[in-house]
Amino acid sequence: MIGENLKNVEENITNACERVNRNREDVTLIAVSKTKPVELLKSAYDLGCRDFGENKVQEMLDKIDVLPKDIRWHMIGHLQTNKVKYIVDKVAMIHSVDSLHLAKEISKEAGKKNCITNILIEINVAGEASKFGTSDWDTNYDLIRTISLLPNLHLCGLMTIAPYTEHPEENRIYFQQLKDFLKNRVSEFFPTTPYLSMGMTGDYVIAVEEGATHVRVGTGIFGERNYHLNTTEN
Ligand SMILES: *Cc1c(COP(=O)(O)O)cnc(C)c1O
Repeated sequence: MIGENLKNVEENITNACERVNRNREDVTLIAVSKTKPVELLKSAYDLGCRDFGENKVQEMLDKIDVLPKDIRWHMIGHLQTNKVKYIVDKVAMIHSVDSLHLAKEISKEAGKKNCITNILIEINVAGEASKFGTSDWDTNYDLIRTISLLPNLHLCGLMTIAPYTEHPEENRIYFQQLKDFLKNRVSEFFPTTPYLSMGMTGDYVIAVEEGATHVRVGTGIFGERNYHLNTTEN
């Protein structure tokens, strides 16, 4: 099943890239494996996946322990400051930096471990009350500027979780707004080719068309999750 799913997702990403003249290599597919058992992750690994996304610290650590060492682990869930120390030197990137408080903690712990941690700033594009981060562009500008001054962080780009919708076209405007903000207001704080982590199972095709460099696909690869066994907090 995973093989078939992965093939579909790959095909959709390739086609989206072709439609807008992008290189397939410029989009990283992150297999979001939260709640899924390591056996399934291993199957995805054997099919070529090297980027996995998790939203809970303990679950990620358990999986890191038993899976191949060349996997790049992405923390995509809301992160509590007291857990930062366990992952700063183990993750490829933390996508969910939504406050100065959290950024400072990552900076401090990365300093202690003598590493530089890749981070993305999470923007709540639609201003949904249920989500972390803010949609106020001026506030986000100030947040990014301040974070850019902290040591031991590599500020790679922006991340967003667009609203849940049956009609993914409705999210195009949010992806455009995020890209526009990155390009026209805060580019000085980022590398020449900054990252845009946006798009999930329901809307990753639109996100790729609008410039996503990282798409986070869970259900589309691994199937539905059983939420009774899980909460969204770390
Ligand atoms: C769970 C999750 C995803 C994947 O969601 P799907 O709809 O299953 O693809 C992507 N991003 C974040 C931040 C998530 O928590």
